[in-house]
Formats: sequence, C-alpha cells, structure tokens
Amino acid sequence: MHWIQKILFYMNGRYGYDEFSKVLLITGLLFGVAANFVGGTGVSALGLALIAFGGLRVLSKEQTNRRRELQAYLRIKHKLQHVYRRTRNRWIQRKAFKILKCPECHQKIRVPRGRKIRITCPSCRHSFVEKT
Ligand SMILES: [Zn+2]
Repeated sequence: MHWIQKILFYMNGRYGYDEFSKVLLITGLLFGVAANFVGGTGVSALGLALIAFGGLRVLSKEQTNRRRELQAYLRIKHKLQHVYRRTRNRWIQRKAFKILKCPECHQKIRVPRGRKIRITCPSCRHSFVEKT
C-alpha cells in the first residue's frame, strides 16, 4: 500500500481538521515560540497542551463531541467579533455622533454632534430638545 493510502485508511472515520483545531494548533505554536523569549515553562506547557488538544481533535472518532466544541468555539468567536466591530464603529464615529440616553426609557440614541435638536425616542416616542 502506498503511504498516502495508509494515511487515508488511518483517517477513515476520524473527525479531521477544522477551524477550531487550526486555531488551537497555531496558538499552541505561538505559545511555544513565545516561551523561548519569555523563558517560562508554564507558557511552553500551555503551548504543548494546546497542540496536543488540537491534534487529538483531528484524530478523534467522536464526531458529535467535536462538532459541539466547534459550535461553542464559533459562538464565542462571533460574540467577540460583534463586540470588536461595535467598539471600532463607535471609535470611528466618535467625532461625528454622540450617544444619548432617553430620559424616559433609557434607550440609547445616536445623534449628530454640535447641534441643538429635537430628539424623538424611537422606542417610547418621548420627545425632548438637547444640545449635542
Ligand atoms: Zn424612550
């Protein structure tokens, strides 16, 4: 049997490579490299643990558990992406817009800066004049 056929036979029924495994393996490698500069055995051990976990996930035959781990990873990743985008957009718009709170229902409202305007809350329809 050719060596590639042996590998394919060995990988038959195993979970394989996914995004979470990739992140674990790359993070583990980065921790391993960082351990050389920082000089900590804890950093090195953490890197090895991440690589081992990523490798075991690739070779695992328990596909249901691996998919569940992937879903949990993707949920956390999407939450972090949402927080990052919201923070970045607020930072970009900070000079053009201001975030006010409705005095009635405390709904956050984005208004243009540097004007005196009448604001109507989109949530409770309360109307108030504010200098932004
Ligand atoms: Zn309101």
